[in-house]
Amino acid sequence: MGSATPLFRFEDRYARDLKGLYEPWRAARVPAPELLILNTRLAAELGLDAEALASREGVALLVGNAVAEDSTPIAMAYAGHQFGGYSPRLGDGRALLLGELLDPRGRRFDVHLKGSGRTPFARGGDGKAAVGPMLREYLISEAMHALAIPTTRSLAVVATGETIARDTPLPGAVLVRVAASHLRVGSFEYAAAHTAEAAEKGDRDLLRRLADHAIARHYPGAAGASQPYLAFFERVVAAQAALVARWMHVGFVHGVMNTDNTTISGETIDYGPCAFMDRHDPATVFSSIDHGGRYAYGNQPRVLQWNLARLAEALLPLIDADEERAVALATAALQRFGERYLAAWRRGMCAKLGLATDAIDATETALAEANALDTSPFVDGVPALLEAQQVDHTLFFRRLSDAVRGDAAPVRSLFGDPNVFDAWAPAWSAGLPTSADERQVVAEAMDRVNPLYIPRNHQVEYALTAATDGDLKPLHALLDVITRPFDERPELEAYTQPAPADSAPYRTFCGT
Ligand code: AMP
Ligand code: MG
Repeated sequence: MGSATPLFRFEDRYARDLKGLYEPWRAARVPAPELLILNTRLAAELGLDAEALASREGVALLVGNAVAEDSTPIAMAYAGHQFGGYSPRLGDGRALLLGELLDPRGRRFDVHLKGSGRTPFARGGDGKAAVGPMLREYLISEAMHALAIPTTRSLAVVATGETIARDTPLPGAVLVRVAASHLRVGSFEYAAAHTAEAAEKGDRDLLRRLADHAIARHYPGAAGASQPYLAFFERVVAAQAALVARWMHVGFVHGVMNTDNTTISGETIDYGPCAFMDRHDPATVFSSIDHGGRYAYGNQPRVLQWNLARLAEALLPLIDADEERAVALATAALQRFGERYLAAWRRGMCAKLGLATDAIDATETALAEANALDTSPFVDGVPALLEAQQVDHTLFFRRLSDAVRGDAAPVRSLFGDPNVFDAWAPAWSAGLPTSADERQVVAEAMDRVNPLYIPRNHQVEYALTAATDGDLKPLHALLDVITRPFDERPELEAYTQPAPADSAPYRTFCGT
């Protein structure tokens, strides 16, 4: 850029700290960049000038045709377990880290391009991405953010003017993603595997440098612990347990929970085949390639713990020089995942059901003690109730607040057999206050945690199909709906409904 105020001020702490874990690279030039969508609110939060970003120069930076003066774009190296099988070298095959920026509060964020051309990690891929899937990531990540779920954000999608080869030829695009970082479990798997190789080149410490970088960036408190790397692992376990509990609360199915798509920060990342379920069913799978249901809705907590076990393995040499001792320490920390997950899940469920959480907060540390939570058997039974009655997950919780206000008909009608609701409701009501005033307060609190609007699959498809054909209006309309998910607007009734019961099962696709 010239002498004018730069659009971004990039730092490069990852590149400076972690030589050996990336390749410097340039984005492929694209013929006719056109800004499809810019997240002006996110730009403002980051202290960026949205108007300048939307200018010709801004768009050139956002698509990778131009490189900011202080940016050294890099493709990050990582490994990963994909559907359980280990790939020693994945890395950013079609993505680049432009650099890190500090927001006005001093928080550090990665600015990253996806779909920016082949890199040394591209293997057989073309390095490209299509308009539909990049807008899909934009839409779902912004929906997740609005639901107060930790996630990477989407700053912009720029059409490239290219046609890319997929099952049918599709318009190409680049997504500009913003994240607390792009450190993944797979980054640690890669560093652990390459530490021996690095040592031959005189770098004894690739893995340690990565862990120190991650601690400084995400868990600075761990640095002062008596065993910093164990403390680091415990914090990642806690963050990921809390994250997956949030997914479960809203019925989110990530769809491709490979270890390269599991962050160290505890943010949701990589919106490929993800979708929200309608009817509550733990077996829900949307991804066309997840034949065994490994990443089904109900499996997500278990899979997360499996992924964290891979992180533990990578960290063993740092946890203790004595391998047996390291394994014992890491295993104990990993085993706490279950109780942490359950505590986070139950606390959130109590809020969704309008039940007091005092008992849970008071006993979190004593969770393992039998009968510590008197509400837990009741709360734990809710998913099975919804599954048996084929109830819409989102509408159940949202309509429950009507029942708190005195009108049970809307929630009752969601049940296959409304008598089952009648049998369940008294035990639930017993946990609620009796006065109308207090009930009103509870109902309002429920409406702040139970969304009315989620990205319903048929609405997402409709908006993305239109956008691919050049009409962005349905996308903007849907974005407006789902970025205010708790705020009931009577004219938006259609957005609250699942697809008609006779529609084909929803399928999503990876590698897009
Ligand atoms: P994902 O399933 O999006 O997490 O991607 C898994 C791996 O495949 C990552 O290493 C990606 O960079 C790589 N990848 C996915 N699509 C492409 C593509 N079209 N070209 C090159 N690499 C790709
Ligand atoms: Mg990925």
